Amino acid sequence: MSMASSWIGGTAVKTDGAPHRIVNPATGDAVAEFALATPADVDAAVAVARAALRGWSTATPADRAAVLFKLAKLADENAEALVAEEVSQTGKPVRLAGEFDVPGSVDNIDFFAGAARHLEGKATAEYSPDHTSSIRREAIGVVATITPWNYPLQMAVWKVLPALAAGCSVVIKPAEITPLTTLTLARLATEAGLPDGVLNVVTGAGSDVGTALAGHAGVDLVTFTGSTAVGRRVMAAAAAHGHRTQLELGGKAPFVVFDDADLGAAIEGAVAASLINTGQDCTAATRAIVARPLYDDFVAGVGELMGKIVVGDPHDPDTDLGPLITTAHREKVAAMVARAPGEGGRVVTGGEAPDGPGSFYRPTLIADVDERSEIYRDEVFGPVLTVRSFTDDDDALRQANDTEYGLAASAWTRDVYRAGRASREINAGCVWINDHIPIISEMPHGGVGASGFGKDMSDYSFEEYLTIKHVMSDITAVAEKGWHRIIFTKR
Ligand code: NAD
Repeated sequence: MSMASSWIGGTAVKTDGAPHRIVNPATGDAVAEFALATPADVDAAVAVARAALRGWSTATPADRAAVLFKLAKLADENAEALVAEEVSQTGKPVRLAGEFDVPGSVDNIDFFAGAARHLEGKATAEYSPDHTSSIRREAIGVVATITPWNYPLQMAVWKVLPALAAGCSVVIKPAEITPLTTLTLARLATEAGLPDGVLNVVTGAGSDVGTALAGHAGVDLVTFTGSTAVGRRVMAAAAAHGHRTQLELGGKAPFVVFDDADLGAAIEGAVAASLINTGQDCTAATRAIVARPLYDDFVAGVGELMGKIVVGDPHDPDTDLGPLITTAHREKVAAMVARAPGEGGRVVTGGEAPDGPGSFYRPTLIADVDERSEIYRDEVFGPVLTVRSFTDDDDALRQANDTEYGLAASAWTRDVYRAGRASREINAGCVWINDHIPIISEMPHGGVGASGFGKDMSDYSFEEYLTIKHVMSDITAVAEKGWHRIIFTKR
């Protein structure tokens, strides 16, 4: 079962770091074993990425697009294998991997293959009478990317594809507990014709390989998706070299239900949006803020529906909810839920782990939470929804914004003016109206505040990987330029 941990210079590489096992969190069984990468492998990967940069960045947009379209086709053809890997390493239900993670990734690859041929800029023109000015958009260079375990393939694709489309070369470090689909992506990219060294994967621990990559002198941009605490460490490491960063960090999304909302739709939406990926989703609904007149019915409805959720074998298409990523993470979630009643919360349903193997945890609803309580303020990253009531619209929006995070939010109302006010006044990278979770390749994803900065997906993310160069050409052909007389006069 021993496999290669990394993909460097167009081939699988067996590294010689510490022995490591990929574990299926639904069963506790080992899925794969390998030796982790080391900081020396990071040096090797950055060196080949640097060497490959010139060729790839000077390939025509059409040539880059052709390779990336081929990659989208190969990813689609290998969808079943990608789903199997994603399910076994994360424990996510096969319906989620098969209908969201993998097709969403294929669509994103396809989108960026097209984006490669759509470079935007200002018109070339004579903005001064003596010069022609033009804009060049150039690949930023070698990109270091660090990704989390919750959506391993999608998070890799969101970072790697705009970089490749822009002409950058990449070294990516996936979370060491979920590297399988990222390694497959790199292998398929090579099969699609991506030149060796343009996309490299180093699977190592955050503490050494992650640190080495984030603080590497030889990269030009560090893009990161993960927790706010680690993201800030990554930013500090990159800052030592003055390198640019792009950070997609944690979230604590509000889910605001006004008194004119369709209550049934809000209940369905709250259950789906809080339980997606077992709540291990940075945009998941975590703080339901509900108008006082609807509060009791909302709590009863969500509690009842959560009680019907099928928790179990992720490979079974009838399963709704898989396990949490590790038993250690389940302990963290369980401990936060256990502390909630001491801070005023009322556990309506869930709040326990089912018997048997695997790191499962039941869907959990906690009502009447205090706005200073840990369960309400801190990221739980589990199948846990908290609920509070509000008195009027000002109070609702104040509560929605009472968080350091600003990744995503939703407002549920049939009043167009309330919807408009919520979308203007809630501080978040995305505000949904009467829905919560959907994403689309054409539209950006990214937060404000403690949720980070910069965008994934859409043309906006393409911009992260391009520099803007101004070329200003003299059109007078005279040695003695008019402006020289400001500096000196000829005597
Ligand atoms: P994490 O921050 O623990 O780890 C993320 C990655 O960073 C992993 O690859 C890890 O090995 C690496 N890492 C750890 N320490 C490092 C260090 N010192 N230097 C460099 N790299 C290091 O996050 P996680 O537990 O894997 O993922 C969950 C977190 O990710 C949650 O906070 C979630 O909200 C966030 N997330 C955000 C988004 C978004 O788009 N904003 C998307 C998915 C997940």
